[in-house]
Amino acid sequence: MYEAGKNEKEVLKYWDEHKCFEKSIENRPENKPYVFYDGPPFATGLPHYGHIVGSTMKDTIPRFWTMRGFRVERKWGWDCHGLPIENLVEKDLDLKTKKDIEDYGIHNFNDACRANVSNFAEEWKNIIHRFGRWVDMEDSYRTMDINYMESVWWVFSKLWNQNLIYEGRKPMHICPRCETPLSNFEVTQGYKDITDLTVTAKFKVLDAKEKLGIEEDLYILAWTTTPWTLPGNVLIAVGKDIDYLRIYTINENGEKSSETYLVAKDRVDYIVKGAYKIVDEWTGSKLAGLNYEPLFPYYKNTENAFRVVVADFVTTEDGTGVVHIAPAFGSDDYYLGEKEGVEFVQHVGMDGKFKPEVVDFLGQEVKPKADHSKTDVEIVKWLAQNGKLFSKEKVVHSYPHCWRCDTPLLNYLTSSWFIRVTELKEDLILNNEKTNWVPDHIKEGRFGKWLENVKDWAVSRNRFWGAPLPIWKSEDGLDFICVGSVEELEELTGQTVEDLHKDTVDKLVFEKDGKTYTRIPEVLDCWFESGAMPYGQMHYPFENKEKFEAGFPAEFIAEGQDQTRGWFYTLHVLATALTRGENPVISTDESLPAFRNVIVNGIVLAEDGKKMSKRLNNYPDPMIVLEKYGSDALRYYLLSSPVVHAENMNFSEKGVREVYSKVINMLWNVFSFYEMFAEEKAVSKINTVELENVLDKWIVTKLNKLIVDVTKSMEEYKLAEAIRPIQDFIADLSQWYIRRSRDRFKGELEKDKKQAEKTLGYVLLTLSKVMAPFMPFLADKIYLQIKGDGTLESVHLEDWPEVNEVDIDEEILENMELVRKISELGLAARSNAGIKVRQPLQSLNYTNSVKFSDELNSLLAEELNVKSIEFVKGTELKVELNTEITEELKKEGLMREVVRTINQIRKDRGLTREDRVEVTYHTEDYLLQSIFLDFADELKKSVLADEIVEDGGEESVEIDGIRVDLGVRKV
Ligand SMILES: [Zn+2]
Repeated sequence: MYEAGKNEKEVLKYWDEHKCFEKSIENRPENKPYVFYDGPPFATGLPHYGHIVGSTMKDTIPRFWTMRGFRVERKWGWDCHGLPIENLVEKDLDLKTKKDIEDYGIHNFNDACRANVSNFAEEWKNIIHRFGRWVDMEDSYRTMDINYMESVWWVFSKLWNQNLIYEGRKPMHICPRCETPLSNFEVTQGYKDITDLTVTAKFKVLDAKEKLGIEEDLYILAWTTTPWTLPGNVLIAVGKDIDYLRIYTINENGEKSSETYLVAKDRVDYIVKGAYKIVDEWTGSKLAGLNYEPLFPYYKNTENAFRVVVADFVTTEDGTGVVHIAPAFGSDDYYLGEKEGVEFVQHVGMDGKFKPEVVDFLGQEVKPKADHSKTDVEIVKWLAQNGKLFSKEKVVHSYPHCWRCDTPLLNYLTSSWFIRVTELKEDLILNNEKTNWVPDHIKEGRFGKWLENVKDWAVSRNRFWGAPLPIWKSEDGLDFICVGSVEELEELTGQTVEDLHKDTVDKLVFEKDGKTYTRIPEVLDCWFESGAMPYGQMHYPFENKEKFEAGFPAEFIAEGQDQTRGWFYTLHVLATALTRGENPVISTDESLPAFRNVIVNGIVLAEDGKKMSKRLNNYPDPMIVLEKYGSDALRYYLLSSPVVHAENMNFSEKGVREVYSKVINMLWNVFSFYEMFAEEKAVSKINTVELENVLDKWIVTKLNKLIVDVTKSMEEYKLAEAIRPIQDFIADLSQWYIRRSRDRFKGELEKDKKQAEKTLGYVLLTLSKVMAPFMPFLADKIYLQIKGDGTLESVHLEDWPEVNEVDIDEEILENMELVRKISELGLAARSNAGIKVRQPLQSLNYTNSVKFSDELNSLLAEELNVKSIEFVKGTELKVELNTEITEELKKEGLMREVVRTINQIRKDRGLTREDRVEVTYHTEDYLLQSIFLDFADELKKSVLADEIVEDGGEESVEIDGIRVDLGVRKV
């Protein structure tokens, strides 16, 4: 048995002591770089299976390209800024609001964030190291370091110079707890189904008599899923061409309501539950211009408000076909309010609480995290008490939440700084063409569609721990200076600058041309910072200018599918902005994406198909899995699964165990067999022409084919396709090559024995190289132990084996395939007839279109234990087994049973091939007696015995139902 945990730790120690990782880079020429970008994880938790999938891909690909002769530097990174770490620190320090943080002091708060960032670093190092991933974690980049931040500023200033940055007031999603706007791609990450209370409110028309000529009271019905927005209502929108009805409702007693209601014709049956009577029918255009009584009194003096207007976004798909408009809480609302010249009303603060003028609900949160609809219930009660409620209903709908703190978001009009991504759209789409996506459907699908619909990127956050926006504003608010480097800031301020965080740079005020400039308060979205990692990690362009430009863009990156709207996207936007146009910022011949090849992985779910959850305890601890089956087995399991093709997988420990036994341990057994017989060094090259035995020719051809297949898939970044043939090859090697070559190794034919040994040594040595990127531990274990000619310090310093396709002998592959099929059919025929394989039979006929060579025929005869193989010409592959057992065949079969039994005793006693024995036997059975006498010579040879004598024996056994006493004594 291969002891995975123990062996892998030994290999790790060996790698560390011999600095194998460092050498694998240094041995390759500097002018042949293969650039890989490592996406920085947030340093706020421990690695989970998602990170392990990422790490497997990020280790396998660089190992492969290293063996192909490239210099693949691998630098680890940490994402240190942003809401994830801020939220943790807030919890630790019991700071509940932004005000609490300000009172605590931004400097102190940032210090606490900085101190918390490295909390998990040591544990990450241990896990990543044990997993066998080669990456430089000592010299890792951190987004909070001044050099990194300076590059981020530089990128930002270059976008500023291209007029790609602007400040805008837009309806955006904000997190009321974090009190900051979020970008559209952050919002898409947090949609969840929740139950909300919807309400249909009654808006009383004031001038129904004058304008419509009606006597009764008329109420317009408007429906909303966000009752808390109703106090901010200023307009009602109808569709110009939508048909509306004026109705009475009729109660159970058949009485008409005293008031009348207005609702779209297509919606009336959904809104009115009981009977009703139609009195009028008008199109929306007739209703425009009506005035209504404010639903709530708080903003009753708002200019130009409380009118019915037409808008083209009104439909009859839901609600009443009438839309209540609160301009501070939605795009359509905002633009309509602006168009209609309505004074701006925002009745809720950025903290998600009603403002003081909303006296009845003062200080209440509009969408509390603990109970989403608590406030909505209060609003509905108020409406009911004031005669303004028509109906209410519960609804389950998809609602966005903060991706960090899980608070329900609010659609809220606020000002923010934006990147004009819409202006880059064409370049973004063109550059996407230059990237190889795996799986390829993401290129046009998930990512391509996202690019088709790009929106300007809200890039500022009203927070504390992040790279500050490097914008200084004059006191009169008219002029801005965007700073692109530390040096520039030092020149402007005349001070030495050693840190770029908010608490430091906010104090830096300077004068220029008679105006005083102060920094604007916002910090950057942390996704901007991770998107700037190609430049930040090298402190480009302040350092490493040539090296960076020679290696841009990256050849390879890999992350999870969610990053199509995260890191993949931000990398892509920034690279495109920096390389586009006639005079690109980074001098390149053409506009470029940030990466040439990208592998997108899916999500690792628990075995039951649910999310992995600590609470449910529905998955095994990765470190325990590593200990039990080894990193190689886990890596193989993940790489051969659909998770490397952006599909989700259900993780099963059983699956890892299966890989362990069917791949790892099976190969280990082959290797142990080889070690038992090998007498000479393994060769790293073999001349196929010299091979005589068909089994040797076959396995070498198989190996060549394996190399061709693995190479091709690896060049296409298709990991599952690359790794799966390895398992098949190991099965072929063990279950056919070794199985049929066992006797050759025990060897009467010295030359054939030598050839078998040489072939197997060559195969294992070469296989160790092919396996190296995928199963780096076992590969090196075999490579180092086999001691081939010209062995290096590690298999990972080797070159990738090269093969010409012409070396693949298709005919051998085909014929052997047929031989194996026939042997399967033959074994099935034996089993149907109830005859054990050890019982020799006379003959087998096979029908096939071509006759096999004598060599293949004898291979078949041995495998099927028949005396002769006959060929019948025909098209359909089939076999016919002669199942007659003559006296002679029966004796022969019995003889083999005796051999097997004695050898089992030898094995139980722990005897080796060097130990000779004396065998004694006693049996009453005549037939069995004759076996010991007639086959004495053959028996002696097969059980390595000097003598076989009739005498008692200490072991009483049964052979084919016949009792016999056996003695086996070492001599
Ligand atoms: Zn939040």
